[in-house]
Amino acid sequence: MAQEPVKIPQATARRLPLYYRFLNNLHSQGKQRVSSAELSEAVKVDSATIRRDFSYFGALGKKGYGYNVNYLLGFFRKTLDQDELTKVALIGVGNLGTAFLNYNFLKNNNTKIEIGFDVDESKVGTTIGDVPIYHMDELQEKLVEQGITVAILTVPAPVAQPITDSLVEANIKGLLNFTPARLNVPKTIRVHHIDLAVELQSFVYFLKHYPITEKEL
Ligand code: ATP
Repeated sequence: MAQEPVKIPQATARRLPLYYRFLNNLHSQGKQRVSSAELSEAVKVDSATIRRDFSYFGALGKKGYGYNVNYLLGFFRKTLDQDELTKVALIGVGNLGTAFLNYNFLKNNNTKIEIGFDVDESKVGTTIGDVPIYHMDELQEKLVEQGITVAILTVPAPVAQPITDSLVEANIKGLLNFTPARLNVPKTIRVHHIDLAVELQSFVYFLKHYPITEKEL
């Protein structure tokens, strides 16, 4: 009988790629086991959280032994679908978009920006970081043709919603939104919002108002 996929909490799921990357490094160094303290130090997640996360997928560390690296890697590979390449589209080839195209996501995982879109004629028809750039007029046709259901949005905020609507029509399932715009989408579509300006601002606020004292260390 086929095994049911393990249902894990969303907060745990978000940490999986972090664990996966570190365990992959350990594996390539020939290490067979790792303690939750070592993991905690490397990925900067407290060890109680790591133990709880790992218990969801049946990896119960043994006292004095730690976790089996191969077992964990096998689990992560399956859960994160590392055996299958996920193709991603990038909309808006500006400064941020260009940086993403040049950054080789494939180094650490199995997601790849396969295609870019823009309205700027000087960018359309070019290739950046091996990724071809098409005009927005071809958005729906190309996404459907290539079966791409994940998109990164790096366009100016005022055009984010109409572009999102076209993406929804093109059957997109997930959207990583780097614009400051809050997007309306049907309930079945997942949007993760990353506003780098807000992140930086709140980081600076924390540094100023919640300095880390020696006592807490
Ligand atoms: P740049 O220096 O290239 O202008 P930027 O990141 O400062 O980059 P933005 O104004 O944020 O510029 O625009 C990001 C990208 O989104 C640009 O390449 C722009 O051509 C593109 N863009 C603008 N409007 C649309 C649209 N309606 N559809 C797709 N792409 C768009």
